[in-house]
Amino acid sequence: MKTRYQHRLNGDFSSLPVGKIVCVGRNYADHAKELNNAIPAEPILFMKAPNALVSLEEPFAVPMGRGSCHFETELAILVGERLTSASVSEAKKAIVGIGIALDLTLRDVQDKLKGMGLPWEKAKAFDGSCPLSEFVSYSGDLQNIDLKLERNGRVVQDGNTRDMIFPTLELLSEISEHFTLVPGDVVLTGTPAGVGPLSPGDTLTVLLGDALKVNTSVIY
Ligand code: ZN
Repeated sequence: MKTRYQHRLNGDFSSLPVGKIVCVGRNYADHAKELNNAIPAEPILFMKAPNALVSLEEPFAVPMGRGSCHFETELAILVGERLTSASVSEAKKAIVGIGIALDLTLRDVQDKLKGMGLPWEKAKAFDGSCPLSEFVSYSGDLQNIDLKLERNGRVVQDGNTRDMIFPTLELLSEISEHFTLVPGDVVLTGTPAGVGPLSPGDTLTVLLGDALKVNTSVIY
């Protein structure tokens, strides 16, 4: 039995509770294009619950029998302060650390739900749908971080946060207009192009600039 997920920061367990995960869809133009989606005029927000979180550093499972399960490699932000209608500078001060997450997506299920105009949670918020790395403190430019995913030794996603449509701090500010962010919440900032299916036995290397490199795999 796996240990329950806890946030980790700079190599230690964090005392922050595990909160909700607020995600943004289509925040990179090249990814919106690859799924034939329009570029959004405002962020498309959705949430995952804490049961979605598992440690990226441990092998993780993908649901079987529900169609393809895609990886989406995303910069993750750990929130350390309460944010309601926050300014960009308040948002900046509230960031405790950055990490890297996979926003696992049951693509066939999502396509069906989208086609019927229904919410995405069954495709996006299932148990274990958010493998998440440890967090590290970061004082550099949030809009110049490389995001890379290698699947079975081949680079499949290779992006940079400079290509976000809604930059990280504006995104946090916008999210806080709709949902109060509280300490322990996580924000996923969207995926660059190159998403694709995962299969049991896949080995993955996930890179976040110079800050993090995680080797992991998909459980059989
Ligand atoms: Zn995503």
